[in-house]
Amino acid sequence: MKVLSKTYENYINGKWKAPQSGGYKESISPSDKRDIVGYVPVSTIVDVDEAVRAGKQAQIAWRKLSGAARGEYLRKTADILEQRSDEIAETLTREMGKTLVEAKGETLRGVDILRYYANEGMRSIGEVIPSTDQDTLLFTTRAPLGVIGLITPWNFPVAIPVHKMAPALVYGNTIVIKSAFETTVTAIKLLECFIDAGFPPGVVNLVSGRGSTIGNALCEHPDIKAISFTGSNDVGQIIAAKAVKRGVKFQLEMGGKNPVIVTKHADLDLAADLTVSGSMKSAGQKCTATSRAIVVEEVYEAFRDKVLQRIQNIQVGNGLHADSYMGPVSSENQYCTVLEAIKKGIEEGARLIAGGKPESTGDLEHGYYIEPTVFDEVKPDMFIAQEEIFGPVLALIKVESLDQALRVANDVKYGLSASIFTAHLDEVFQYLAEMEAGMIRINGETTGLEYQAPFGGLKASSTQARELGRAAIDFFTSIKTITIKP
Ligand code: NAP
Repeated sequence: MKVLSKTYENYINGKWKAPQSGGYKESISPSDKRDIVGYVPVSTIVDVDEAVRAGKQAQIAWRKLSGAARGEYLRKTADILEQRSDEIAETLTREMGKTLVEAKGETLRGVDILRYYANEGMRSIGEVIPSTDQDTLLFTTRAPLGVIGLITPWNFPVAIPVHKMAPALVYGNTIVIKSAFETTVTAIKLLECFIDAGFPPGVVNLVSGRGSTIGNALCEHPDIKAISFTGSNDVGQIIAAKAVKRGVKFQLEMGGKNPVIVTKHADLDLAADLTVSGSMKSAGQKCTATSRAIVVEEVYEAFRDKVLQRIQNIQVGNGLHADSYMGPVSSENQYCTVLEAIKKGIEEGARLIAGGKPESTGDLEHGYYIEPTVFDEVKPDMFIAQEEIFGPVLALIKVESLDQALRVANDVKYGLSASIFTAHLDEVFQYLAEMEAGMIRINGETTGLEYQAPFGGLKASSTQARELGRAAIDFFTSIKTITIKP
């Protein structure tokens, strides 16, 4: 168990600064509550105001740099993040709980995204439009928005900030980031890579504290020109209402209730492998985690048995240990929410066939561990089939046909990610036409997406402004149409 812990500060206008409140909070490891990862600032709206004013001032010079020059800062940041990836992954595992393998993968994804957007700084960002007048040049260009507020969750404390920071910066905006309070130390270690890459003062600012105070203040600040948020639907709705009232752009990436559909033409071993990894890795705390397996009756029992075999082999433990497949959930709050959802599933009459309890043998008694949990005989209208649980809980739903599977898959408020397991082309085409989700796969896990492709959902999962890939330019810039006539 680690005992050394350091006190961290906000980063505003190129300097580390104590919060105006003078208050700090412990960041505690969910793997072992005795492990204090660090002490992080509890900031106030005064700190937010200072950070936004610094961002506004810095943007005057930052927007004048070429995209290539801005990209160079991102390239340096990527190199530093890569060099520090072992140390940052270890902090991430301690602070959030996912395994070291997953934390390292997430950190290196951050490196790739930074390099991708470094190159975006060199790509053309407008179009020439044929004018009806021979002597007129008509074209578009892209302008940065100004200072952007970035609000991020705890489940990907490196990758999600980078999803937003890299495009925001390369397109000429400055930023104030408020990362999840629970994973502030990881966010600060990520920020140190940006600082050591030499970004000018005020371009990148970080304020740590509670969403209800400083997240809120960021959304209400008159000099914040856009908010990019990833998190829960409840908070997303609050942010959307504020942004609409102020008339500023907003981007919301929110929850999911992601299904896999398994048909009689599926490779059942592959389907079981990827359903279990999709639902249990990161203890089910990915927005794209598989939470429902909708299976046609001909193969239902065979698929269920294969899932159970794999669930029984899952090693739950501290993510720092090489043999752990699944770590704890991220916090006491998350632990109580997930156990409450399991209780509801039992009360509603679903049959618990694996897990369902805290995992508390030996050293695990000091952390927020929950057994990998599977429910059988789940009805599509039950709470556990409708609501995002964000924990290691899988609901198995039996259906008569692909038509019914698609109806059940679509009959939830979310539409983030989905997969079908089948070797039958007609089934693939029907699914492609009817599945209501922003990211859909065939014979794949519901989680993960290559960073050069647009990321986002339909329905209540997202607003239409996509993250990642070239699509990010639409949110982080506005179009200027220019007419030149001699
Ligand atoms: P959350 O509770 O909504 O928090 C997200 C962020 O919003 C945190 O930084 C939080 O601060 C802040 N916040 C809270 N209240 C606020 C307010 N009134 N105004 C402004 N900011 C506020 O979500 P979470 O529990 O961290 O993350 C889990 C959720 O994120 C799940 O629903 C998951 O599906 C979703 N998610 C979606 C995606 C995607 O791409 N679609 C990816 C990952 C996660 P504090 O930390 O201080 O509470």
